[in-house]
Amino acid sequence: MTVAYTIVTVLVAVAIYFGVRYFVRAGRKFGGSRVIVCPETGKQAMVEVDTRRAALTSLVGQTDIRLESCWRWPLREDCGQECLLQLDVAPEDCLVRSVLTKWYRGKKCAFCERSFEETDLIDHKPALFTPEGITVEWAEVPISAINEAMATYQPVCWNCHIAQTFYHEHPDLVVERPVM
Ligand SMILES: [Zn+2]
Repeated sequence: MTVAYTIVTVLVAVAIYFGVRYFVRAGRKFGGSRVIVCPETGKQAMVEVDTRRAALTSLVGQTDIRLESCWRWPLREDCGQECLLQLDVAPEDCLVRSVLTKWYRGKKCAFCERSFEETDLIDHKPALFTPEGITVEWAEVPISAINEAMATYQPVCWNCHIAQTFYHEHPDLVVERPVM
């Protein structure tokens, strides 16, 4: 009994040690104020990353980077937080995902007009419809072009992206049904 008790105590102590160490490290990595150039105003502003959210989400999977505060808030608290792209707290694709997730929310697919839900953004990455008439995946858009993409591209759901890609690659296999 005493042995089991000791083992449990040691395990709990180890778990607490690693838990605390993990959050201290995450705090060092994501925490602190950073100066960015607000894409909306073109002026510098001071922002802070939501450390707790970043640490917790990175524990269970994809790190979700969001701002905790910004000089311009609460006046413009509903901004798209595009300035996240300027931070170096996480890999580029992670920052792009964090920014685009906010952008897709509340929008509808340019083809089927279905609204995007939170889960769609994780399992089936939505795509973008370019002014040139093709659909592209996030990964194909460089981080420097994301702001322009959000201004000029339209959101497309995963299913429509696959259908469009197939249509473009095999136009001979797609039979257009005549309109009755
Ligand atoms: Zn669609």
